[in-house]
Amino acid sequence: MQYREHNKADKRNNLFLFLFSFALIVIGGVFLAPLRWPVGIVLFLGLVIIMLVLLTNWQINKFGYQCSVCNHEFDINMKAAFLTPHIWRKKYLKCPKCQKFQWAVEIVKIK
Ligand SMILES: [Zn+2]
Repeated sequence: MQYREHNKADKRNNLFLFLFSFALIVIGGVFLAPLRWPVGIVLFLGLVIIMLVLLTNWQINKFGYQCSVCNHEFDINMKAAFLTPHIWRKKYLKCPKCQKFQWAVEIVKIK
């Protein structure tokens, strides 16, 4: 697997996708809120979970991570994507090569 750094288009697409998902959740909330309890909240939580799974699946298919200690480049799975903290293109991960926990930098996969 080959990787490259983020370029301007990636940054713009990420921001757009984030805003689009946020808007969908807000619109979903507006439509589902007037429904009878607990139907509205259950449908709303379902919508949020589906969005999270779709976004995470897209993210692990599109991005890999680079270890900040040894520079090793690696993929992550769905479990790691959900269970580890993530702050703006950095993720707290255990490197499969040097086995250290560190803030790995997100990089883009080249197909
Ligand atoms: Zn490493």
